Amino acid sequence: MAGQTSVPAPSSRLQEIVSDSNRIEELSDTDNEYADEYEDVGTVVDQHEAANMAYINSMISPIRDSLETETSITQDETLAVVLPFLEGNPNDFLLNTFGLPKLQREKHAAFLHQALGDYPAQMAAMDAARPWLVYWSLQGLTALGYDISDMRDRIVETFLPSQHPDGGYGGGHGQLPHLAATYAAVLSLVMAGGTTAYESVNRKSMWHYLGRMKQVDGGFTMAPGGEEDIRGAFCALVVMSLLNIPLDLPPDAPARAHGMTTFLDKLGEWVSRCQTFEGGISAAPGNEAHGAYAFCGLGCLSIMGPPTETLNKYFDMPLLLHWLSSRQCSPEGGYNGRTNKLVDGCYSHWVGSCWPLVEAAVGKEVSNRSALARYILSAAQHKKGGLIDKPGKRADAYHTCYNLAGLSAAQHKNVYDEATAPDIGKSELGAPFGWKVDGLFEGERVWGDEDFVEEVHPIFVIPYQAAEDCRRYFEAKEGF
Ligand SMILES: [Zn+2]
Repeated sequence: MAGQTSVPAPSSRLQEIVSDSNRIEELSDTDNEYADEYEDVGTVVDQHEAANMAYINSMISPIRDSLETETSITQDETLAVVLPFLEGNPNDFLLNTFGLPKLQREKHAAFLHQALGDYPAQMAAMDAARPWLVYWSLQGLTALGYDISDMRDRIVETFLPSQHPDGGYGGGHGQLPHLAATYAAVLSLVMAGGTTAYESVNRKSMWHYLGRMKQVDGGFTMAPGGEEDIRGAFCALVVMSLLNIPLDLPPDAPARAHGMTTFLDKLGEWVSRCQTFEGGISAAPGNEAHGAYAFCGLGCLSIMGPPTETLNKYFDMPLLLHWLSSRQCSPEGGYNGRTNKLVDGCYSHWVGSCWPLVEAAVGKEVSNRSALARYILSAAQHKKGGLIDKPGKRADAYHTCYNLAGLSAAQHKNVYDEATAPDIGKSELGAPFGWKVDGLFEGERVWGDEDFVEEVHPIFVIPYQAAEDCRRYFEAKEGF
């Protein structure tokens, strides 16, 4: 592997690292078998590799369960794949001042521009996901600092045919509306910005559509007659908050027949029931806790009101903190989504972006952001552009978007401050407009000045300015 000629291949060290014998002494021993070789290295690259190895050794748990299971074997196999990227630089990227690969901004942007282009015929099965491909690509580009305003007309034209006459968006023309497609379409249009984009959304039919999703137990379905899960609650509230849609249920909402009057009736209680015995958040009461649902649950409550109030009211925060912290893999530094699962770059956001919301509620910083950034820069950048789940996987717009969102949340201090945007957000579902970036995390910084991604709104996962402009537009508008 390039750049690793004087140090044994990291994967060959795996046996040493995963051995259950003599761990603490072995790792703290300066007289280890590689010490002489570290002294011999003369290049900056090899010094960086030695520093990376020392860091990784310091991150490895000294205690290992000796019981071998399918899970433990898969974890060891994953570590063998990931470690070379954390220790060295197999992609031959230029390094930043901290010895980690620089953010490959131009390559990632080229990848995302390509993702917005035409697709081969075999991708037709993905047509229902078209709004997502647009959202992930646009959000990734804005996070990388690219102006997307020249695509505004194209974005509006893309979504006009996929808006259903009865409200909401489907994947494309003629498809039934779905709350996931609606969420991605609305976020894309809000990012595009401007009157034409805003007015392309039929907010009145959207209000009626969302009213049909509201369930009598407090939650939301993803589609009429579809599954009820926490994505539904989160997506509905994101759309309502950005578009300033009335909180009262429309007259034709089926839940009204059961005595409900607003979209928030029983919602906090329903979200609360999604917290599992582990402390994490599941798709629906009784299911397994999962990183993406944790973000949806935290986001939903943070739209309902200030996180200082809603999170502490509806979640057992110490238990949630324990579960969220346990999602950070060591020594990988990235997150997994569930107990006993593998590190995956998309959880850089789904779990990593939970931290600003949680920290606003508990009042202190509690996450290891530099370890996450290490994973993203070292292991989650594809050599040819785009970001990935883990080394060996293909890049896609989804992992590109969410790795970058996680990196933004690791670099920027997103804080809740009700005085932030005094001219908007004072009415219904306005809490998300009380967030701002209050400087940068400097602690154990591992990113160079050229590795910054833009500020990303911690709940809407689009640029702050785009969210605020849209809300301001609809707050100023009378009626629908
Ligand atoms: Zn993933």
